[in-house]
Amino acid sequence: MDELEVVTKARAFVAEVKPTDIPVPIEAYLNHIGAALRVEDDLEDDEAGFSFQNKGKWYVGVNAGDRQERQRFTVCHELAHIVLGLPSEHKANPWWSYAKRPMAEILCDVFAAELLLPLRLFRPLAEKAPITFDSIDDLATRFVASRTATGSRFATVLKVPCAFVLSEQGKVRYAARSTSLREAGAWIVPRRDLPAGSVSERSRAGGSCLPVEEVDAENWFNAWDRGGTLIEEARHHDPWDQTLTLLSFEDEQVPPPAWGPPQKSEEDELLPELDGVLHFKSKKRRP
Ligand SMILES: [Zn+2]
Repeated sequence: MDELEVVTKARAFVAEVKPTDIPVPIEAYLNHIGAALRVEDDLEDDEAGFSFQNKGKWYVGVNAGDRQERQRFTVCHELAHIVLGLPSEHKANPWWSYAKRPMAEILCDVFAAELLLPLRLFRPLAEKAPITFDSIDDLATRFVASRTATGSRFATVLKVPCAFVLSEQGKVRYAARSTSLREAGAWIVPRRDLPAGSVSERSRAGGSCLPVEEVDAENWFNAWDRGGTLIEEARHHDPWDQTLTLLSFEDEQVPPPAWGPPQKSEEDELLPELDGVLHFKSKKRRP
């Protein structure tokens, strides 16, 4: 199962439930598969939730000690395990950690984000908002979702160049990119170090720096030859040693390629392929 298949299944699930309110009513998703919610007050701090089936009925448990946005995400994540049929691997890592996160867990997070921040409700608001952490925080509040889930979704649904990067212990763990960055091949290598001297790196080091700065695009994107200046904004969360980075191009345009195949003229189109056989003034190709 890959991310595309998960996204397709999540969107089909959302389309069946047809949520129209913001924040999305989580109960509607639970009811759709006849699952019951149990808010548990005896779970460990790092245990977000679980799901199990008893006599044909599904139960989803969430940690009563977690904040509301976390509980909502957990419910959607558990629904992913149920709908996708993927077994839980929650013991290896605390729920917030992205280092060594198993693929099944990542896929369930992708499914959860689709439910919590449905494309039809979320994208129109994201498109109207400036590309800043303030916008992400505002949307997170409205949708009762975490900054991480909202930021990742924000970058994914936009067309204009924008990336949202999550790093842990100074290494990139996850990068969500907007359509135009994906099309331009703006690739942020997983497990790379935070760029030296970047706002993100200095925020993590605890140094004093402006929360927003300009940075050369090549500092973030792998083998990038288009140049351009990125606006970089960062937030560091010390207890988890997690750094969130928001990147955008200052004029909301991806610079054109520095070089590329020359434009074909009409005359070129008429030239035969180089096959070692001379064709005198013939426009016909050999069979
Ligand atoms: Zn899980």
